[in-house]
Amino acid sequence: MYDFNYTQAKNVDEAASTFGSASDASYLAGGMTLIPTLKQRLAAPSDLIDLGKIGDLEGITVSGDSVRIGAMTRHAVVAASAEVQKAIPALAKLAGGIGDPMVRNRGTMGGSIANNDPAADYPAAVVGLGATVHTSKRDIAGDDFFTGMFETALEPGEIVTGVTYPIPDKAAYVKFPNPASRYAIVGAFVSKTGGEVRVAVTGAGPCVFRADEMEKALAGDFSAKAIENIKVPADGLNSDIHATAEYRANLVTVIAKRAVAEA
Ligand SMILES: Cc1cc2nc3c(=O)[nH]c(=O)nc-3n(C[C@H](O)[C@H](O)[C@H](O)COP(=O)(O)OP(=O)(O)OC[C@H]3O[C@@H](n4cnc5c(N)ncnc54)[C@H](O)[C@@H]3O)c2cc1C
Repeated sequence: MYDFNYTQAKNVDEAASTFGSASDASYLAGGMTLIPTLKQRLAAPSDLIDLGKIGDLEGITVSGDSVRIGAMTRHAVVAASAEVQKAIPALAKLAGGIGDPMVRNRGTMGGSIANNDPAADYPAAVVGLGATVHTSKRDIAGDDFFTGMFETALEPGEIVTGVTYPIPDKAAYVKFPNPASRYAIVGAFVSKTGGEVRVAVTGAGPCVFRADEMEKALAGDFSAKAIENIKVPADGLNSDIHATAEYRANLVTVIAKRAVAEA
């Protein structure tokens, strides 16, 4: 039997205060991860606090040099947004490649980054673009947000309210997807803004990381050839039924090269 109190929060303050007064609460966004987790009895929160009716958490705003996306914005909305497609096409493509139509129509950007699955796509965009994560308490640099497998810098009860993505000169996201779930076995988000190059890798390790050596090489020569001989060590990468650490290490170079060529 499920046994929890359900609250549909009207605003962020109400959601946070309900969380604070509950013994073991969880926020509910699209439910695409949380509901299967409850069904498998891997979590049994005392309270579910639904963020779905907080209008302030949804929407896309493009200003001169950035795109701000509200935490409750669904993947399908980002993928279909003409504004995102124009400002950061790589981000629209990333959102359009997540899961299947049901996942894209229920899953949210905030849920994805708060959950920080090692194979999730959005963390690659947050780090690959040097984005800023906004929460109910503060702003967190994207580089500091993802701290480990399913771990983030969020404190208990802190709510992701949105993310601001700087608009790059060029960028691309390419992934080698698991054919069943579409999660990234390896994905690389590459961007160039002025002299700064970022290469963020998801799927390969416990959480998203920057490929520093590739960034340095691409800052001098932004071409796929510039990184063809740069290998990420397999030590510490994920090994599972889908791919060994060595296979993933090799894929990082292959996928990063494709992303640079696409950018
Ligand atoms: C079959 C399947 C395939 C998928 N394929 C992919 C894929 O290819 N790529 C990919 O990236 N993802 C994939 N996903 C994950 C999906 O995209 C969702 O982003 C992810 O499930 C979490 O988002 P959600 O809105 O559903 O969050 P929920 O499941 O509602 O919540 C997830 C966690 O985040 C917390 N949370 C949610 N919102 C906030 C917030 N605003 N502030 C603080 N905490 C919050 C919740 O408390 C919970 O702990 C897949 C999921 C499924 C079921």
